Amino acid sequence: MNQTGIRSSLLPEEFVSLLAEHNHSTVDEIYAMFSSCAQCHQDAVYPVVVLEGESWLGNSVAGKLRLALYGLCEQCAAVPDVIQIINRKLFEELRTPK
Ligand SMILES: [Zn+2]
Repeated sequence: MNQTGIRSSLLPEEFVSLLAEHNHSTVDEIYAMFSSCAQCHQDAVYPVVVLEGESWLGNSVAGKLRLALYGLCEQCAAVPDVIQIINRKLFEELRTPK
């Protein structure tokens, strides 16, 4: 199996299983979301998990919580505010009906 650094070192399996369950997808699909950079589509080095909406601790109504999963490569991770830039893009896509 072709393992990336992300698979082996940064994401505990239990966490990925939880994400898969929340997202109604498979563990492999979750790893795939982290495997390429959200900005430039190169191999990602850092996994990013973003939550939008109700907080986990507050009134977390199922379905209201927006979850975004993606990776960042070394180069893009160094860009200031890159996470904010990507989040804005991602959550705008989610809000805009196709
Ligand atoms: Zn990149």
